[in-house]
Amino acid sequence: MIEDKNPKRTPLSELGEFKLIEHLTNHFKIRHKSTVKGIGDDAAVLNYAKKQVVLSTDLLVEGVHFDLSYVPLKHLGYKAVMVNLSDVYAMNAMATQITVSIAVSNRFPLEALEELYAGISTAADLYNVDVIGGDTTSSTSGLIISITALGEVDEDDEVLRSGAKPNDLVVVSGDIGGAYMGLQILEREKEVFKVNPNNQPDLSMYTYIVERQLKPEARKDIVELLKKLEVKPTSMIDISDGLSSEVMHLCKQSNVGVDIYENKIPLDPQVISTCEEFNIDSTTVALNGGEDYELLMTISQEDYDKIKGNPNLTVIGYVTEPQRGMHLVTRAEEKIPIIAKGWNALKDLP
Ligand code: ADP
Ligand code: MG
Repeated sequence: MIEDKNPKRTPLSELGEFKLIEHLTNHFKIRHKSTVKGIGDDAAVLNYAKKQVVLSTDLLVEGVHFDLSYVPLKHLGYKAVMVNLSDVYAMNAMATQITVSIAVSNRFPLEALEELYAGISTAADLYNVDVIGGDTTSSTSGLIISITALGEVDEDDEVLRSGAKPNDLVVVSGDIGGAYMGLQILEREKEVFKVNPNNQPDLSMYTYIVERQLKPEARKDIVELLKKLEVKPTSMIDISDGLSSEVMHLCKQSNVGVDIYENKIPLDPQVISTCEEFNIDSTTVALNGGEDYELLMTISQEDYDKIKGNPNLTVIGYVTEPQRGMHLVTRAEEKIPIIAKGWNALKDLP
């Protein structure tokens, strides 16, 4: 929304494909022993010795997953990496490498891609991952980014979605609903900007939730914390689509039921106040908003003392026998069935 009046715009055609790749990737360093050969050959070479390899991939399409009218390219690069690392951490693994593939239209100058790669680079530095390859091609409309993340985990440490058992505790990291409310703020300001482009938005009241939307952090720290506390979750998933749909995935794959307590769901005060301002129910936002990239897990009751009082981990419910079903226990102690209303990538298709 803040526009530079005379930005430098170098057309991509001035460089050609090989120079462009070289320009965007020449500063990436290799940090991991498992990266034998990174960018520059026909394929990367990896060696994980005795570890299990975890691999996850995501595709982000302009107009479907992001809107460049309010998402700065640097943030987009950072977030695209986070989205993928989050899936690796959800396996209780450490991320080690990523590949980055992009398709760009001629609407994007070199400087735009430099911004995108600055965000990717920052993420790789902070999260200690090697950028080991990718692909670059043209697109007829808009920007497409595909990132693949690789990680490693000892065989005994790997956590799947399918291991939850009745009586386990349901635990969530951080707080949820912020990214969705941040998006509501950005969408509102975009409409204001359309009417009056001179109106610079004042987002100071919403910094936390806007940051949750634009610059989410994958919870590497939680995987490290669990290791330190000697807690191995019985099942785990990252919260990309909303709490209710992730709870349903864990229950379905583990063949269990669940009771989630409305009054235990961790919400930031800014989420609560912004929900009041928009007149939306904060529990609905926590259940159905997406993109928080927190970790949802189940742990054995025996591990409760190890996590008790930790500000990063909140117990929000219990795993039950499958025939009990999946329920939200409201503040009024009513039990209502949990249904998935989370973001669905295919919902708008004809
Ligand atoms: P090929 O023709 O074999 O696909 P490329 O010329 O596309 O090779 O890529 C050359 C090297 O640069 C490879 O190591 C590839 O993985 C890497 N690479 C290409 N595009 C990107 C990108 N957008 N980001 C990171 N690495 C890339
Ligand atoms: Mg290629």
